[in-house]
Amino acid sequence: MQKKNEHKTICSYCGVGCGIVVEQDSKGNISVEGDQDYPVNKGMLCSKGKNLNYVAQDTSDRILYPEMRWSRNHPLQRVSWDTAFDRAAAVFRSIIEKHGPDSVGFYVSGQCLTEEYYLVNKLTKGFIGTNNIDTNSRLCMSSAVVGYKKMLGEDSVPISYDDIELSDCFLIAGANPAWCHPILFRRIENHKENNPNVKIIVVDPRKTQTCAAADLHLQILPGTDVILFNAMARWLIEKKKIDKNFIKKHTVNFDAVKESAFQLSMKKAAELCGIPIEDIKKAAMYIGNANAFISMWTMGLNQSVIGVSKNVALMNLSLLTGQIGKPGAGPFSLTGQPNAMGGREVGGMASLLAAHRELGNPKHRKEVSDFWGGKEIKSEPGYTATEMFDALESGKMKAVWIICTNPIVSMPNVHKAEKALKNANFVVVQDISHNSETTKYADLLLPAAGWLEKEGTMTNSERRISYLPKVIDAPGEALPDAEILWKFAQKMGYHGFDYKNASEVYDEHCLLTKGTEIDISGLSYERLKNEGSFQWPVPHATHKGTPRLFTDYQFFTNDKKSHFNAPYTLYNKSELTNPEYPLILNTGRVRDQWHTRTKTGKVKRLLTHIPDPYLEMNKVDAYLRKIKDGDIAVVKSRRGTVRVKVKVNFDIREKVVFLPMHWGKVLNNDFGRANNLTNDLVDPVSKEPDFKYCAVEVAKYVKP
Ligand code: SF4
Repeated sequence: MQKKNEHKTICSYCGVGCGIVVEQDSKGNISVEGDQDYPVNKGMLCSKGKNLNYVAQDTSDRILYPEMRWSRNHPLQRVSWDTAFDRAAAVFRSIIEKHGPDSVGFYVSGQCLTEEYYLVNKLTKGFIGTNNIDTNSRLCMSSAVVGYKKMLGEDSVPISYDDIELSDCFLIAGANPAWCHPILFRRIENHKENNPNVKIIVVDPRKTQTCAAADLHLQILPGTDVILFNAMARWLIEKKKIDKNFIKKHTVNFDAVKESAFQLSMKKAAELCGIPIEDIKKAAMYIGNANAFISMWTMGLNQSVIGVSKNVALMNLSLLTGQIGKPGAGPFSLTGQPNAMGGREVGGMASLLAAHRELGNPKHRKEVSDFWGGKEIKSEPGYTATEMFDALESGKMKAVWIICTNPIVSMPNVHKAEKALKNANFVVVQDISHNSETTKYADLLLPAAGWLEKEGTMTNSERRISYLPKVIDAPGEALPDAEILWKFAQKMGYHGFDYKNASEVYDEHCLLTKGTEIDISGLSYERLKNEGSFQWPVPHATHKGTPRLFTDYQFFTNDKKSHFNAPYTLYNKSELTNPEYPLILNTGRVRDQWHTRTKTGKVKRLLTHIPDPYLEMNKVDAYLRKIKDGDIAVVKSRRGTVRVKVKVNFDIREKVVFLPMHWGKVLNNDFGRANNLTNDLVDPVSKEPDFKYCAVEVAKYVKP
């Protein structure tokens, strides 16, 4: 039974979304432990989750009151909330009047709660009159969104975590869940320990911790995933390991995929992927022989100029084998951030509309604008993440409002983002912490309430919606993000923002989903508090939620069938290597850090695992450059340089190097910031950047 001073909430880090019990003692000290009753983690927490109490209690870095500069040459100075809102509204109004609504925009985060996401979308698309609202989720899962829409008709993860224990084959591609989704991975490991026949295939150019549990590690060359998945498809078709009945009854476009899969021989595919042909056949055989097959993927597939092709090529394997809509089976995109899924529900991207409606559909736009009672919603997508910073750099956009994200470390080709914010007329940064490097670009800095300091909801990777209560007061004058947004909207003179609390925002969001595929009109804070979490859809007040989609094989497409999609390209040719830049840089996460370290960077215990940035490099490549383990090296791309300590091993492929993406300023801006090097090219459909593929050279650092 829950004790009086105990509160059940959700971890604020990754998309696994573990349940946490928070306890506050009489002195105000906070402790956290895994929620034994929560279906996701059943009491388990990873190192990041276990140390959340330190983050919640350490207010030394917090932004405590609004700060404003009167001009770029002046320092930030403390102001009242009234002055801050007056200035923000005056500047936004004047810019919109002079340059039109598309000259302003909002750049938000998959860490925002659903209510905040909902409000910023309503404000931007429905009242300011621009679709310039995008999110850092664009940088991590927009390719999966497009992939799901193309294959299943909607951005809809079909399965649950509980399917893990019902599966007997996992293909984990472009993901390192042992470090990045640890509790989910622990469930997979436990399942395999209890069922040794379960097969795990890992696709990654690096031998990561996840490979420790793998039956087969396909250590492919970067950018060759589509070729690999197509080769597997070819083998499945040739060996008649496909589900003909499912394909005939429930899919369309099989021939296009067959044609794509047969473009290359197995031998050629193996050669291009840099892996033995026998391993590709073995992996395909594991999939073809499985009773229940799950594919899992994250950034290794999504963050690419061919991210959508990678997604559809992988999902084709589930359709070929009829592995969807049944226990233990389905294509499962793992979200990186805690509420990336919630953001998608409210249409929290420049190309989306609320409740998975289509921005390009006039009927859908009218439904939403009538519901909000604001302006007509524009049909053209707004600026996506990289486009927004390009528009600020070129002067097309004049003002940006950044919420809960740190683009000065996380954007690809980050020097461009710096120039963009310097060039902007007006930058609002709304965040909890001065640790964010982006705060120094703010003309107006707004203090936001953090985890445990506000109430709201989040949706994890398996469509599970949970309520997060307010447990403690925010420090200083910090306000919940939702309140900041509705107060700003009121100051702009927009009607329909006179909320008294977040619960009213949530009710409005739920009502707007009515009749859609993600209908959660049966939900309310009361239900979430009393009955626990629910997986959408939840279409009426006694509905218990939907753990698995498509059990009736009725997909969300117009013809109700699942759609095979031929990948539009086989190769990633975004940036060719040459003698000057002969290596491919891959970026990613380490176990105990989160995003740009604004929270995890201040927890001493989390620094014991990997305290500093490092470049992982194959011993052969290091030997050829006279670099030894522990040496400082300079990594150079066509966009910038990074100085960093080198970790030499045989775990990474030759001609590939790896740099974690978390670190920003260490000694100076060029020390360890991976995105000095990365490319801001994007997938043409999903507009997700190519973080995993840029040509670099590495040389031993010599002190000048
Ligand atoms: Fe938090 Fe993710 Fe760790 Fe769970 S696995 S405790 S959600 S960081």
